[in-house]
Amino acid sequence: MKKTNKLVLCILIIALITLSSITAYAAMCSHGWEYWEVMDVDYDYEYIDSGVCYATITTYVECKICGTTGELMSYGINSHEWVREDLGHIPGTNMHRFNNTCNNCGYSFITEDFCSIPH
Ligand SMILES: [Zn+2]
Ligand SMILES: [Zn+2]
Ligand SMILES: [Zn+2]
Repeated sequence: MKKTNKLVLCILIIALITLSSITAYAAMCSHGWEYWEVMDVDYDYEYIDSGVCYATITTYVECKICGTTGELMSYGINSHEWVREDLGHIPGTNMHRFNNTCNNCGYSFITEDFCSIPH
């Protein structure tokens, strides 16, 4: 599916950004980035437009050797992760109403789709 591929690509881009940030951060510690362990990852999403949302990813890391902790920030553009809620058939029409909410940024909108199934 086209949509899935796009999402995977976005995740890949984020992963690359994260990796390069870790490399940059490791310069502050005498130990290489391979000693840095990811303790926690926070995702924060913001709505940009009807196509994408903006992700701010905070990765909490700790050096396994010296115990130094740090926060790495990375950013990425993500496709919305739509969750479709069935709002029911519109009486007297052949249209069906759905509420679409993004799982990430919380943006939602209502769509009316052609529906051939009689209710
Ligand atoms: Zn260290
Ligand atoms: Zn979104
Ligand atoms: Zn319907």
